[in-house]
Amino acid sequence: MNYHLVLTRKCNLNCEYCHGGENAGPVTEIQYSFDELDKFLARDDDPQLMFYGGEPTLRIPLMLEIMDRYPHARYMLQTNGLLLHRIPEEYVHRIHSILVSIDGRELVTDGYRSKGVYRRVIDNVRWLEKIGYNGDIVARMAVSEQSDIYKEVRHLLDLRDPTFSHVHWQLNVVWDAEGNWTDFDGWVSRSYNPGISRLVREWVDKMEEGVIEGIVPFMPLMYTLLTGKTSLLRCGSGINTFAIHIDGSIGVCPISPDWDFSIVGDIRETDPKSLRNVMMVDEPCPSCEVYGICGGRCLFANKERLWGDDGFDKICQTVKHLIYELQAQVPRVQRLIKRGLISVEDFDYPEYNNGCEIIP
Ligand code: SF4
Ligand code: SF4
Repeated sequence: MNYHLVLTRKCNLNCEYCHGGENAGPVTEIQYSFDELDKFLARDDDPQLMFYGGEPTLRIPLMLEIMDRYPHARYMLQTNGLLLHRIPEEYVHRIHSILVSIDGRELVTDGYRSKGVYRRVIDNVRWLEKIGYNGDIVARMAVSEQSDIYKEVRHLLDLRDPTFSHVHWQLNVVWDAEGNWTDFDGWVSRSYNPGISRLVREWVDKMEEGVIEGIVPFMPLMYTLLTGKTSLLRCGSGINTFAIHIDGSIGVCPISPDWDFSIVGDIRETDPKSLRNVMMVDEPCPSCEVYGICGGRCLFANKERLWGDDGFDKICQTVKHLIYELQAQVPRVQRLIKRGLISVEDFDYPEYNNGCEIIP
């Protein structure tokens, strides 16, 4: 099973769409003992621990203690990248995937995150390359009104010093009731959807050269379209992916510790085996025509509907647009596979759930 392990609720940034620096709450640090964590994880045959926060690199000694304690677990890290270089090298090499928050071009990243953040993140990803890190380095973007999806994704894919193996993004939608949009509909129709269409087209053009660029939301969807292998909720929340919050409670998703619906256990009393498939998305997802491809996008959004049913539907329209654009390219991709330029298996990403939610 996969666990987002929240190492602290504190964050050293205060980004526009999250305000993690301000919203940490009065209790920020882990309230359970290692003995309690030991007993819980001992009952899981194949634990995968994904360091999460707040900002997990604010608690590097804790991170190292955990990695020493569970040498056979698989590790992932989601970080804002500012303190990445402080993790001792021998531990960094043991992390399978590192998701680094960066929102695209410098101006856009610094606009959402704070001045100077882009440069510091780029320097630290360079450091990862310098020490010979061989794992998956994923640029994880939050996409909001100042983002031009085409330009931000292309910028990160085209970087050569350093190089990101994969680029992923999440729309800044339904994380709170207000949102910070002035014209979501206009942005989708004028900027986001056309940008997606162009990215998809050019992604397949590049395959003519035998190259599949690591655009995370495209790869597994294309894999499903080619193979017919459908997916339940792609982020795995409530199915095989859970969050261990700082108080020891177990939630379906790391972003929702304060929402009662999301708490499904406690490490002191829950058997990990009883968690599997504990929560699924509700309607309209199971009856949706693209359910097997989309998987329901986001359990939190499905349960909370912070933008109401109309708002939920607006986001679905972006998902459907993405899926239909990919669908339209399937015959071309099949021809390239037949010619031996690429193979179906190239689209089978990620190897393990690495915390990319897949559907933006
Ligand atoms: S497109 Fe919307 S309704 Fe359809 S499965 Fe995805 S999230 Fe659910
Ligand atoms: S997609 Fe939604 S349910 Fe899944 S991890 Fe992200 S916020 Fe949680």
